[in-house]
Amino acid sequence: MSRPYSLMIDPGHGGKDPGAVNKRLGEKEKDIVLEIGLLTRRYAMREDYLYMPYMTRSCDKFVSLQGRCEKAKLYGVQAFLSIHTNARPSRGKYGIEIEAWCFPGSKRGR
Ligand SMILES: [Zn+2]
Repeated sequence: MSRPYSLMIDPGHGGKDPGAVNKRLGEKEKDIVLEIGLLTRRYAMREDYLYMPYMTRSCDKFVSLQGRCEKAKLYGVQAFLSIHTNARPSRGKYGIEIEAWCFPGSKRGR
């Protein structure tokens, strides 16, 4: 079965760029988002899913923003999913943040 939709999974940060760091727990954003990215790829690869997933990184290495964009262009992906686990400045604030970008007038963006 061919997969009509291509998806670039982008675990943010990596390598020299740890992203947000929880010093108390010793956790780094780059490790958490990589694990989420690998799980997302495994999920998207299921036979009954229509997505062909690619990844900007699948190990702990630094990839520049330009490098991430070039990889997406190289594969001509239809969607780009960048994964981050942002930090919050104070206790008592919780939630999720989702940003969706599209390109008005673009058939692919739709
Ligand atoms: Zn981040």
